[in-house]
Amino acid sequence: MALIVQKFGGTSVGTVERIQQVAAKVKKFRENGDDIVVVVSAMSGETNRLIDLAKQVSDDQPVPRELDVMVSTGEQVTIALLAMALIKIGVPAVSYTGNQVRILTDSAHNKARILQIDDQKLRADLKAGRVVVVAGFQGVDEHGNITTLGRGGSDTTGVALAAALKADECQIYTDVDGVYTTDPRVVSQAQRLEKITFEEMLEMASLGSKVLQIRSVEFAGKYNVPLRVLHSFQEGPGTLITLDEEESMEQPIISGIAFNRDEAKLTIRGVPDIPGVAFKILGPISAANIEVDMIVQNVSHDNTTDFTFTVHRNDYNNALAVLENTARELGAREVIGDTKIAKVSIVGVGMRSHAGVASRMFEALAKENINIQMISTSEIKVSVVIEEKYLELAVRALHTAFELDAPARQGD
Ligand code: ASP
Ligand code: MG
Repeated sequence: MALIVQKFGGTSVGTVERIQQVAAKVKKFRENGDDIVVVVSAMSGETNRLIDLAKQVSDDQPVPRELDVMVSTGEQVTIALLAMALIKIGVPAVSYTGNQVRILTDSAHNKARILQIDDQKLRADLKAGRVVVVAGFQGVDEHGNITTLGRGGSDTTGVALAAALKADECQIYTDVDGVYTTDPRVVSQAQRLEKITFEEMLEMASLGSKVLQIRSVEFAGKYNVPLRVLHSFQEGPGTLITLDEEESMEQPIISGIAFNRDEAKLTIRGVPDIPGVAFKILGPISAANIEVDMIVQNVSHDNTTDFTFTVHRNDYNNALAVLENTARELGAREVIGDTKIAKVSIVGVGMRSHAGVASRMFEALAKENINIQMISTSEIKVSVVIEEKYLELAVRALHTAFELDAPARQGD
């Protein structure tokens, strides 16, 4: 007998029929003898609808506390509906809001963090043979104010509950059947991964693969909660996200290829190469609340150097204005920028024990005649910035070069 936390996302509870299907699925697990805690999101589209209503009376800036009171209602509806559907098919069930469980958070409305979960009530219900249905995405602060955890926060609720209950597994049911080596819309040969480590998943998630809320992966890694991504309505093993790195020879060096088109690049040329220059350039950028991703400084030439960095595309215009100002102050030669870039990254814990991974990546890109504009590396990742129009070609070439392509099916 296992204790499993199952989280169902918005599309999985998007209609009454789907809620009934979820109930039937939960019933099957119960019949296997497992204890089940279910976490649900609001019906798909509901959170957006509520935020939109709030904006209509608030000139686009709803009061954060009141917004939380409002958006938390989406999940209150689905927990009750699922509990009703379960009871209807003979499965004892009870629903709780975040406040009722007591999922204690800090007071940062709209992006609260979970501090503590009271598991007493849940354990008593499980012991009495009930399925417990808990509202995702919400909690309560020490003053009794309703809080929410940020968009996609139900994943984090699921993981946090699994950690608090020391569950055997946290299953995230969604509209894809697992985590893929890359986006199957770009590479039709992309494959579902059987397993991936928390670290790799974190890189994949923050580099643009949108299967899980990043915070939920951080949380799962921190508390070592085995996490599984599965399709809500198709059978299959999904993808297991765990701590252990397999030692096997067959373990691929690269687990996946992530990419995004969200960044823009800025270069300031001919700045004096003296101590403090990097701070003079990036200080005002950070003061303007603009996050910087990759940074490259060239070797000095005639006592001046070039400095390039990337920011989110939405911040490009602001960053450009700030940098032009800095350029005048420093007497820099010029500022240039480019929004038509893309970042492509190979991710894999296997890199730790293999040399030459980066050069294999560069070779694959060179063969396609793709120019690399920037490079950055970490222990388990190599990222490059390239011209946006080559993004898909690059991802496909790398997918093949690192032997991630699915074996061709007959007739392919
Ligand atoms: N309903 C919330 C959202 O749409 C939380 C979630 O679905 O995870 O962001
Ligand atoms: Mg989600």
